[in-house]
Amino acid sequence: MKATAARHAGLPFVPQPASGELLGSWLLRVAQLYGLGLATMLSRLDARPTGDARVPHWFAIDNSNVSLDALSAATRLPRIDLAAMAPPSCRPHWPEELGVCERCLASAAQAAQPIAWKRSWMNPLATVCGLHGTWLTPVATRTLAAIRHAGDFGGVVQHVAAAQTLLDCEPPSAGDALWLQDLCFARTDVRLPWGRTRPRDLTRIVDAVAREVIAASDSGTGPLGLPAQGSIRSFAFELGNAERVGVSLPTQLRRRQWVVARVAHVLRWPSEERARFSYWSAASIKRLASMGIWPDEALAWICPPAAELARQQEALRREFSISPRYFKASAALFASIQ
Ligand SMILES: [Zn+2]
Repeated sequence: MKATAARHAGLPFVPQPASGELLGSWLLRVAQLYGLGLATMLSRLDARPTGDARVPHWFAIDNSNVSLDALSAATRLPRIDLAAMAPPSCRPHWPEELGVCERCLASAAQAAQPIAWKRSWMNPLATVCGLHGTWLTPVATRTLAAIRHAGDFGGVVQHVAAAQTLLDCEPPSAGDALWLQDLCFARTDVRLPWGRTRPRDLTRIVDAVAREVIAASDSGTGPLGLPAQGSIRSFAFELGNAERVGVSLPTQLRRRQWVVARVAHVLRWPSEERARFSYWSAASIKRLASMGIWPDEALAWICPPAAELARQQEALRREFSISPRYFKASAALFASIQ
């Protein structure tokens, strides 16, 4: 029936996307309305590239695997609005678990509204609900991948409602995590305690501090009494101008929340007011001092001893320029940090 499907005049009715809804979530709801599977609907609307047999997961639908022009024509929604609903880019893989807000799901159920999966829940940096300020609940990416119809969301909601919020014993840290999340999601220059910071610098700083938080937790324990280490992956975030910066984070949500809360705490509060990371190990101080990524004053805020070490090293470089004497003096300086 391809010939008749090729000249559709658009869908007579489409439900409006919910505020902040993910493109694939809305498409599942549209497909449900017409009693179709998502793949069938996309092909009937000529929204899939010809010859591409591999249908993307609903949550991964974006302009790289469907034609937003075809969807725009069929639904009469502007292409730019559809593009804004596409998931944030996450390369090379989705984490093992993403987060979802059980309160948002519960309030949709109470209001007898259909479940609309939020775009922001697909970002590995999303750990707290922007609306409720509470920790997101883990949902396995595998579970999301098994969803075929909008009706399948009900099973996920039950699963989420049954999960305990294990980080609730650390209430202040959700506030820190949300503060950092808002700054990271802004995708423009933002004001941090040390001054104006570009998205690229903020992402790199988050990565550097996350590495140290993970290294520091090596000996101690993280959430659920497990080492914070677990499985760590580098997730590449797109910064709007096709530039990508990787951040190393745990692939499991609880561990990711644990790390992000500590990174946020370090970036938000001055060293002497912190509940954690007022002191850093000699190894952390040396690594932080060696990274040439810091905007002015950022390192002094995050780790004052590392800023002092970097300052002394710079003084040696000015004195000896790049020479064998400089390398010797610099090595001696680093060795003196115990
Ligand atoms: Zn919520």
